[in-house]
Amino acid sequence: MVQTLVFGIFMAWAGLWAHDSSLTAVPAPNCAGVLNQGGLVVCDGPAGSQWEMGAERQTAGADGRVLFGLARNAASPTSLRMLTPTGLTTEFQLEIATRTDPFRVIEELDCDKVDARTPEQRDHAGRSWLIKQAAFDIFNIGPGVRQGFILPAEGPPSSPFGPERKYIGVSAVTGEPCEKVSVHRGYDIAAPVGTPIHAPAAGTIILADPDLYYEGGTIFLDHGGGLVSVFMHMSKLDTRVGAEVRQGMKLGEVGNTGRTTGPHLHWAVKWRNPDREDRSGDFYIDPALLLGLPAITTGESETQDTEVSATDP
Ligand SMILES: [Zn+2]
Repeated sequence: MVQTLVFGIFMAWAGLWAHDSSLTAVPAPNCAGVLNQGGLVVCDGPAGSQWEMGAERQTAGADGRVLFGLARNAASPTSLRMLTPTGLTTEFQLEIATRTDPFRVIEELDCDKVDARTPEQRDHAGRSWLIKQAAFDIFNIGPGVRQGFILPAEGPPSSPFGPERKYIGVSAVTGEPCEKVSVHRGYDIAAPVGTPIHAPAAGTIILADPDLYYEGGTIFLDHGGGLVSVFMHMSKLDTRVGAEVRQGMKLGEVGNTGRTTGPHLHWAVKWRNPDREDRSGDFYIDPALLLGLPAITTGESETQDTEVSATDP
């Protein structure tokens, strides 16, 4: 069972600096989020503060906010450190709740149907990979998690984030055994083809492609702060790259495109560190945990609605 902890951290060190009267006006850093493997930590502090969580480092922009994803296998405790522009350092140890995702071994893999095999399929898969990588290099300013997240489609959840499956089989063509380990990194919603898909939070469209090899009709929606929603297997795309969408706006429709076993929406959320150039350290977090995040409506977040415009065709 996923344990959800909504927490707040407040400064406990003010007294340590009381002897230095020039250091009294630093606002307390305030973090909130879901302290669970696959969760997210959202921190506010003075603009320009440098934050470190584990090996990840970020410098807060003018709004003072940074987001840190927690990997599916994040260590606990994890250190969170803030260095303000005035030189104050604060460090916290965060206890991260452990996931208990199921693990299964499935021994009926048809090795000849896994992955792209023909030259045409490989070419299609290769092109699709390049398109996705190029999109993941794009960062927009957006609300991040300020609005909270809503479910992007109506329907029963059919496969949660997290389970790992090991498939074992033999190729009928070559006789060679094969093995494939797969972790489900999205949240599947079972819904018929044509069910509307809505933006779970506001953002900017950075990929809209009707025909990626594995993913089929796909949209990437950049929420800002490094967070990207990924929607796969869509039958219809109602938006285009560059469009700015509001929370709840229709993006397209559920489908059965790409490598699927039936109509559904695969919704995934990737956390990227905007301050790191190397994209290989980015990872998917658990969308279901984001749904538990309360909307944060303090300070500059109130201006966000004036920055997005309706561009849904
Ligand atoms: Zn899925």
